[in-house]
Amino acid sequence: MSSTPAADLIHHPYQPPAGFEAPQPAVHKASTVIFPDVAALRARDWKRKDGYTYGLHGTPTTFLLEERLATLEGGRHCLLVPSGLAAIANVNLALLASGDEVLLPDNVYGPSRAMAEGELAQWGITHQRYDPMDPADLARRLGPRTKLVWLEAPGSVTMEFPPLPQLAALCRARGVTTALDNTWGAGLAFNGFDAGCDVVVQALTKYPSGGGDVLMGSVVTREDALAHRLKLTHMRLGWGVGANDAELVLRSLASMPLRYRAHDLAARQLARWLQGRPGIAAVLHPALAGAPGHDHWRALCGDDGQAAGLFSVVFDAGIAPARVDAFCDALRLFRIGYSWGGPVSLVVPYDVAAMRAPGRWPHGGTLVRLSIGLEEPQALQDDLAQALAAIG
Ligand SMILES: *Cc1c(COP(=O)(O)O)cnc(C)c1O
Repeated sequence: MSSTPAADLIHHPYQPPAGFEAPQPAVHKASTVIFPDVAALRARDWKRKDGYTYGLHGTPTTFLLEERLATLEGGRHCLLVPSGLAAIANVNLALLASGDEVLLPDNVYGPSRAMAEGELAQWGITHQRYDPMDPADLARRLGPRTKLVWLEAPGSVTMEFPPLPQLAALCRARGVTTALDNTWGAGLAFNGFDAGCDVVVQALTKYPSGGGDVLMGSVVTREDALAHRLKLTHMRLGWGVGANDAELVLRSLASMPLRYRAHDLAARQLARWLQGRPGIAAVLHPALAGAPGHDHWRALCGDDGQAAGLFSVVFDAGIAPARVDAFCDALRLFRIGYSWGGPVSLVVPYDVAAMRAPGRWPHGGTLVRLSIGLEEPQALQDDLAQALAAIG
């Protein structure tokens, strides 16, 4: 990550058309791209970014967004795909073949696990889930068939922050490619490549879009050969993105560092406030002392490091799931729904025990994930207070 992400995103190089200068890039839309003659058509290599072949393989608008995202993540190559989940699929399909094994953290983003249990299993690709907080567990599971290890920091929903550089180093020592789902860090909280990861994906749907109105994903790499493999799969699967959506993300990127900081500050304030509330057994936020993996977060992100506006609370085991549902229903500013990273605060209850390998989840109570939007923190705190009071 650059030390000046906001300045880099705003002043990233862009060549406006001759005679017209504005800071905002144009939106270029095309399926067909015209060649001046047959020789030019024959000479054109779609894999190179010094020209255009066909709308699916890139337009000036998508190339520009790819460059900015590569800069943001500290990588060199970027592919855009129609969703964060498609980014995960692009990596899996490019790097895995029948007979291979992929390792997923036990707290992996749920649909990624569903892909492993569904399509990957159907195609003869096995998977195992490892404990991301225990490097020895990962080391034990790395075998001759392991071709890819997924990493997430922190884990989805339960928010444990793993010793990421240590996990990545273990894989590198065994020659196994690692892919980081960096949606939480957004390229701002830490640099996935410096942490030792080979591929960094993001759901641009979250903070890079910031509006709750775009679905898109990115796959970023530093290494040419790896980028090439990912790109061939991307091309063969036909995964393009619309220029209007790419433009929305380009527009939002400039404000992302400010938004990320605002979401972070508000989330920490609310997480600390919730720590003292009756009925709350645990607050799972990696930047809070005592939270699972807090020391790993501090080691990677810094003593005054950043965090996303996302955390979870676990209710006391004595509070029945139906009462936790009633708490969610009683919230007025927090809306019930999936995803995060937009202006609206969101809440979702999860039955974590059913999502985990047996014995890996220490809590008896129901977990509720909160995504903090851009409302005033005090208004959100008042909302949480009235909903807690309502289930008294
Ligand atoms: C949301 C999310 C995704 C998937 O993104 P979509 O664009 O919704 O497909 C992947 N990983 C993580 C960690 C996410 O939070």
